[in-house]
Amino acid sequence: MRRWNGWGDDAHDYVLRANARALLLERLGPGTPPRDASLDEALQRVPASRLQDGSRFNTGAEARLRHTRGQSFPDWLATRFGRLGPFPDGVAFPESHDDAVEVLANAKRAGATVIPYGGGTSVVGHLNVPRDDRPAVSVSLERMDKLLDLDETCWLARFGGGTPGPALEKQLRERGYVLGHFPQSWEYSTVGGWVVTRSSGQQSLRYGRIEQMFDSGRLATPRGEMTVGGVPASAAGPDLREFVMGSEGRLGLLTEAVVRVRPLPQHESFHAVFFPDWAHGFAAVRALAQSGLPLSMLRLSNANETETHLTLAGEGAALRWLRRYLGWRGAGAGRCMSMLGVTGGARETRYALDGAREIVKRHRGVWIGTAIGNRWAHNRFHGVYVRNTAWEAGYAIDTVETAINWNKATGLMQAVEKAAADATAKFGERVHAFTHLSHVYRQGCSVYSSFIFRAAPSLEENMERWAAMKKAVSETIVVHGGTISHQHGVGVDHAPYLPAEKGPLGMDLIKAVAAELDPKSMMNPGKLFA
Ligand SMILES: Cc1cc2nc3c(=O)[nH]c(=O)nc-3n(C[C@H](O)[C@H](O)[C@H](O)COP(=O)(O)OP(=O)(O)OC[C@H]3O[C@@H](n4cnc5c(N)ncnc54)[C@H](O)[C@@H]3O)c2cc1C
Repeated sequence: MRRWNGWGDDAHDYVLRANARALLLERLGPGTPPRDASLDEALQRVPASRLQDGSRFNTGAEARLRHTRGQSFPDWLATRFGRLGPFPDGVAFPESHDDAVEVLANAKRAGATVIPYGGGTSVVGHLNVPRDDRPAVSVSLERMDKLLDLDETCWLARFGGGTPGPALEKQLRERGYVLGHFPQSWEYSTVGGWVVTRSSGQQSLRYGRIEQMFDSGRLATPRGEMTVGGVPASAAGPDLREFVMGSEGRLGLLTEAVVRVRPLPQHESFHAVFFPDWAHGFAAVRALAQSGLPLSMLRLSNANETETHLTLAGEGAALRWLRRYLGWRGAGAGRCMSMLGVTGGARETRYALDGAREIVKRHRGVWIGTAIGNRWAHNRFHGVYVRNTAWEAGYAIDTVETAINWNKATGLMQAVEKAAADATAKFGERVHAFTHLSHVYRQGCSVYSSFIFRAAPSLEENMERWAAMKKAVSETIVVHGGTISHQHGVGVDHAPYLPAEKGPLGMDLIKAVAAELDPKSMMNPGKLFA
């Protein structure tokens, strides 16, 4: 069953090995886990529903509690300390577009605000219930999880908006197709959530971001139905899909999404390469990204992240041998690991690998082969379970991501890590910060930093430390000219930084679009903009 106060299925655990614990102890000091609230304690804080007519909504305390939060750090603290409110006053589970329209009409009659709920994996406060005199309802699309239509001529698949990653790929695979959208939250996040938050999956280099995959959609808005897209390309004015992508639930419920799919690939493999240092790795990855080679994935970890990954992997004989071998090949201390994926037909993948090997060699990279890469691919949705185990050992994990042009990426990475360290030092604490470039483009890349720090005993102290770090890091991103989000979206946590990116007229335009479809501001108020 899905954990109510952590990540993932409670049947799965991530084992924190002794050497990983030793690394945390050395970098951060001993961790003391705060006491977790029990589900019963948390449920006792759920107040009575304010809905006059709850017939269309589940007003039970547990359903409401389970739809109150996502996975942001403040959400994490709220669930762990059992202080999750405000709560939605009810949760609806529509089963079709028409059903969703009826739910929306019901909410309107009740004067309620509506928070669309996909997989609940938001990490920026998209799902939080604002303090409001109006009742609030959560609309979970989890029952809209079917492949509704597959057009094999046009390679288009129509899905219910609440279809999560595994169900989506399973239904496609049965028919010989793949979408190829693999965010790390794939286990739970949904196609509707991906579209409205402009999500990016690990193999974006081949399959594109969700923006490239999203062909068309059906939106139930407070003013009626709106359909967008449906042609391969168009010069007929602004593309209305762009209004939907990134709308974060403010325009309505995306009840159906048509996505561009492809036949299943014949081959796929993931390869690890080690560079002597950041400068060589960075130059190689940029050259690879700009080469046009048909790679499906390309990422580069900085030295801190490389060492952290190697430590988490254990200390078996194979790893000891790898460290010795890398040292002997010139990739000793300060080495940076890159992960490279190829996906497709036999000829295409061979061509990509041959070309990549040449570029890697020119930049003194040591090509290790598929052992590490394929293991990464096998465990790629399991690694996030470390969040639970680390917390239970007294350590918290948060991440921040942005995208920026190549010429500013290294400076931004260093500044972000420093900002987090400085902000944490003010509380007499340290942070273990590490970074990778996770998505690459010809013009630049995304920069994804992780922070591990010690948990404090109380919710308030944890919030204070996190807020200081988040502010410092976000301001650094803005100052360096990065976007406030490459893939996680805006929600409430990034909303204060959006005006710096969009400008006053841009913000007015976004607000005007929302007001046009949702004049009473009933859809997910407070997200994206206040
Ligand atoms: C461990 C972890 C790893 C992650 N890795 C990635 C990653 O690799 N790449 C990435 O892009 N993101 C990642 N994320 C962030 C998150 O998974 C994405 O933002 C995802 O797209 C959210 O989808 P969801 O279905 O869970 O939406 P939710 O979290 O349920 O909702 C997010 C927002 O979308 C709205 N919404 C959801 N469904 C609909 C709908 N059908 N109609 C209208 N509005 C809707 C909600 O109201 C809310 O505003 C990660 C998150 C976690 C916790």
